[in-house]
Amino acid sequence: MESDFQELNRQIQAIKAKWGKRLCILGHYYQSSDILAHADVTGDSFLLSKEAAARDGCDAIVFCGVHFMAETADILANAPNRLAQREKPVEVLLPNPDAGCPMADMATLKGVEAAWNEMAEYIDVDQIAPVTYVNSSAAIKSFCGKRGGFCCTSSNADKVLRQAFSEKKRVLFLPDEHLGQNTALKFGIPESEIIFWNHSNSEMIEKTAALEQIAFLPSGTVKSYEKAAARPLGGNDPQALRGAKIILWRGFCPVHQLFLPRDIAKFRDDHPEGKVAVHPECRRDVVFAADTAGSTKRLLDLVAQSEPGSVWGIGTERRFIENVTRDYPDRKIYPLSPEKPCCPNMAKITLSRLHQTLVSLDEGNPVYRVAVDESIAAGARLALERMLECG
Ligand code: SF4
Repeated sequence: MESDFQELNRQIQAIKAKWGKRLCILGHYYQSSDILAHADVTGDSFLLSKEAAARDGCDAIVFCGVHFMAETADILANAPNRLAQREKPVEVLLPNPDAGCPMADMATLKGVEAAWNEMAEYIDVDQIAPVTYVNSSAAIKSFCGKRGGFCCTSSNADKVLRQAFSEKKRVLFLPDEHLGQNTALKFGIPESEIIFWNHSNSEMIEKTAALEQIAFLPSGTVKSYEKAAARPLGGNDPQALRGAKIILWRGFCPVHQLFLPRDIAKFRDDHPEGKVAVHPECRRDVVFAADTAGSTKRLLDLVAQSEPGSVWGIGTERRFIENVTRDYPDRKIYPLSPEKPCCPNMAKITLSRLHQTLVSLDEGNPVYRVAVDESIAAGARLALERMLECG
């Protein structure tokens, strides 16, 4: 009801006014405009965490995004050097504890450690740089950091790969096969030196089956993955592993997987004057057919810097498109897919959840806290710091 909506907004504003600089609400670009209206900072996941961590006088961060983002905010905001400057840790809250990321869940520490140990029987794992996309759990970031590896974002994956290859012979890329493959191909790595590590992670199998059912993946994909996972070395023979420059962990974003080359062909037919920009979490054939691929921030910059009247077909999450359409009404922006892919996990952050979280914080009994144990956070911070050193 309109009055309820207005009342929630009023109460949220009142708590924000009372807390002032001590509270920082972060809003990911994939959040609805109702949420972003209350955000102190809007952006993509890593930039938001970095920004929040650097704020002086901040006692609490409410992250309107998904779980791995709140973990990263906690890891950075409560780093020992930051803690030394404060009397107490920053509270990091996620307004809905069920707002996870299926792609992050496709790489578990147990699964990755098992794969690593298996690789060690055939190749020198000291010569593998594990690189994880920021869309991963703190435990996976820590796994990478503790082994001399890196974290990366969709904006700096190529810089990180360059650095990783200058230090080590191979890269294990987690958990997004598409970002890994798109970056490797851009980097000029021959196809013969790119291999996939198959596994039977339940999240990966479940999401693959769902995509197969709606014909976004060919029939038999799950069976072929399961068959490969049942074989040694993630379905690779030892020779392929020894010859591999990059090993791609099987994993994907179920939202960005919903874009297909035929969507781009249709857009070009309908809007011959338009340009197509997609996120690199999309499949390689989609990235190949697009005019450009880039991070969420890059997609935003492309629209912002284009001439009024420009026509864009954008291949990313639906609410991002709604938000840029609202912010740049003089550009013509079209969702690339008729499915209008929407991240159901991002949508779990609602106005009432945000309100409930803020009320709990204000009453001194905060709910939905995200606190990464320092034994994991320390390793994850190493991977994040190495990423930042790549520039
Ligand atoms: S859009 Fe994809 S990668 Fe981002 S949170 Fe949702 S499922 Fe995860």
